[in-house]
Amino acid sequence: MKDVMQEKWNKRPLIISGPCSAETEEQVVETAARLAKTGKVDVLRAGIWKPRTKPGMFEGIGMKGLPWMTQAKKLTGMPIAVEVATAKHVEDALHFEVDLLWIGARTTVNPFSVQEVCDALRGTDVPVLIKNPINPDLELWSGGIERLQKAGVQRIGMIHRGFSNYGNTEYRNAPMWHLPIEMKRRFPEMLLICDPSHICGNRTLLQSTAQKSIDLDFNGLMIEAHIDPDNAWSDAKQQITPETLSGLLDHLIWRAETTDELEFQTALAKLREQINHIDDELMMLLGQRMKVADKIGRYKKDNNITILQTNRWNDILAKAFTRGEKLGLSKEFVTKYFDAVHMESINHQNKIMND
Ligand code: PEP
Ligand code: MN
Repeated sequence: MKDVMQEKWNKRPLIISGPCSAETEEQVVETAARLAKTGKVDVLRAGIWKPRTKPGMFEGIGMKGLPWMTQAKKLTGMPIAVEVATAKHVEDALHFEVDLLWIGARTTVNPFSVQEVCDALRGTDVPVLIKNPINPDLELWSGGIERLQKAGVQRIGMIHRGFSNYGNTEYRNAPMWHLPIEMKRRFPEMLLICDPSHICGNRTLLQSTAQKSIDLDFNGLMIEAHIDPDNAWSDAKQQITPETLSGLLDHLIWRAETTDELEFQTALAKLREQINHIDDELMMLLGQRMKVADKIGRYKKDNNITILQTNRWNDILAKAFTRGEKLGLSKEFVTKYFDAVHMESINHQNKIMND
């Protein structure tokens, strides 16, 4: 089975799928069989130990789910992957010959936990994927990778699963695509996988999110699949059936291999894609900024305060010039940009004042 994993490790795109959580033996085995039948899934995943936001939620079936995974592997030939968060998880998973481990987003945030997992991994040769931390902190993500490298883990990959943000957006976890792009810059040779399930938190956005990641040259996908998604014991809203997954994968447009002639065009198209994604995010952020301005406008109205406070604006500008200079943005551009943003804010607040 080790050889199968090695083969899969080098396969592009690498497709990982399976339920959010292992629930029963039948559910694991049937999911695996139906995923294998699609012929499109390389590795079977399932959460055995689940880090949940609140006590009383389903916290995973625990060790007794590991033999179910082994059974699914035996029946389908698919290598298996589980999430580990403690040294004991690593030990148990390796005891049951789990082929691939991943460190979850709630673990990556905690250097104590990551180190504990790394210490348990020392001297083993299992490949490990590390998810981004729930907060948008690339140093924590990079730090986790460095800890794995220091522990001697040879095969390391990254999973982008989006970042937690306060308030509602259309995503459960905001993709902030520029962050995985920066990780790709830091670790250009490292496997980078997208997890649209945890980014979206729903089924409707899965297809477009998976496509975005492919357009950004990610090397694979991890997507949750369940035989009865609506009744899943965790993450019911975002899971899809193995057959729906198959359709989703069929509809993805994988970039054609570059030929010499097309190399330039392809590189250009990729860069333009990156620009499109960044622009999308900038628009989203600007929209959020104006919503905050609206709130301030309402406070000012309630307290009878003028819209414009000159000192506050001068402070913002002064800071922006210094920041902009460091980022390679001209003073002229920064001035124009902030003037436009400021004008828009004032217009928003004006409307609120005179409503
Ligand atoms: C999961 O993969 O089921 C999971 C718990 O994901 P995350 O660590 O990204 O929240
Ligand atoms: Mn999940």
